[in-house]
Amino acid sequence: MKIRQLPQNLANKIAAGEVVERPASVVKELIENSIDAGSTAIKIELKEAGLTEVKVTDDGEGMSPEDAKRAFLRHATSKIKYDADLFHIKSLGFRGEALASIASVSKLTVKTSLGDEAGTMLYLEAGKMIRESKSDARKGTEITVNELFYNTPARLKYMKTIHTELSHITDLINRYALAHPHIRFDVIHNGKEIFSSRGTGNLLQVISHIYGMQVAKNMYHIKDSTIDFKVEGFIAKPEITRSNRNYVTIIVNGRYIKSQHLLHGIIRAYDTLLPIHRYPVAVLHITLDPILVDVNVHPTKLEVRFSKEKELTLLIEQMIRNQFKQSTLIPKMENKK
Ligand code: ADP
Ligand code: MG
Repeated sequence: MKIRQLPQNLANKIAAGEVVERPASVVKELIENSIDAGSTAIKIELKEAGLTEVKVTDDGEGMSPEDAKRAFLRHATSKIKYDADLFHIKSLGFRGEALASIASVSKLTVKTSLGDEAGTMLYLEAGKMIRESKSDARKGTEITVNELFYNTPARLKYMKTIHTELSHITDLINRYALAHPHIRFDVIHNGKEIFSSRGTGNLLQVISHIYGMQVAKNMYHIKDSTIDFKVEGFIAKPEITRSNRNYVTIIVNGRYIKSQHLLHGIIRAYDTLLPIHRYPVAVLHITLDPILVDVNVHPTKLEVRFSKEKELTLLIEQMIRNQFKQSTLIPKMENKK
C-alpha cells in the first residue's frame, strides 16, 4: 500500500500552515476563543511582537481538566454538534482547529479553571502533551504560546520585522475592540502597555481611543434595519478622510470581516464628497440571522458570503446617503449640537 493516513500531529502541522500564518493569527484565534467563552476582560501580553511569546488571559467560563485536554484534538469543539449547526453559527469559532494547529507549531501552556474546582495546567511541545498538573488558576483561561514556528523553520524565516508583526497585531486588536466595545482589552508589549479599551460598551469611546478625538467628534451615528438586517455604527464626515481603505471596519454578528462589496458600497455612498484617493473612516455593526451568512469560506473566516449581499450593500449605501442629505439640509442645527 502506498497511501497512509497521516498521524494527527502531522495533520495538525499541515492545518497550521493555513490557520497560523504569523503571530497575529495566534492572537486572533486566542481572543476569539476568549470572546466565545463570554469574557468581559481579555489581556494580551506579547514579547517581541509575539514571536517569542503570546499570552492571552481571560475571565471567561474556563474549561474542566478533561475539556482542556480535548481542546487540543483536531476538530474538537464545544461550539457545534450537528450538520445543521453549520448554518447557524453564532460563535466566532466552530472549526475546532485553532488550538490543535497553534500547539503543533509552538510550545504551549494552558492554565484554566471553571472557577469552583481546582484548575488544571497543561504543557505541550509541537502538539505533544509533555506535562499535566493542577494549577491555582482562577475562573478563566490563560494560554501562553512560546517560540512560535520553532519546528517549522521555513515559516519562521518568513516572519517580518518586529515592527511589522506588531502592527498586524495592533490592527487586529483595534478591530476586535471596535467589534466588542463591552469587552475590556489590555495589550502589553515587552512589559509596556500599548493599548487598553475600557469595556464600557460605548463604541464612540473606543473609536476615539483608536482614531483620536478629532475623528470621534466628527462622526455621524447611523442606524437602520430591514426584515433581514440591522445596521448600526458611525461614519466620518466627508472632511475626515484617510489615504487608504483600512479605516473602514465591518463587523458581522460580532465578527470582523473583509468585504470588497460592502466597502465599495460605502465608498460609493460618499461619492463626490471624497477627494480623489481619499477614503472614509467608518465602523459598522451588522446583525443578521446566521442563516444569511456563510462563514465557512476560508479557515481564517475573514471572508464570508452573504446570501443577500446586494440588498445589504444597498441598505448601507442608502443609510449613508440619507445621512449626508439630512446633514446638508439642516447644517445649522448640526452646528448648534
Ligand atoms: P473552536 O474555537 O473552533 O471551537 P479551538 O481549537 O479554537 O476551536 O478551541 C477548541 C475548544 O476549546 C473550544 O470549542 C472551547 O470549548 C475550548 N476553549 C478554547 N479556548 C477557550 C477559552 N479561552 N475559554 C474557554 N474555553 C476555551
Ligand atoms: Mg477557536
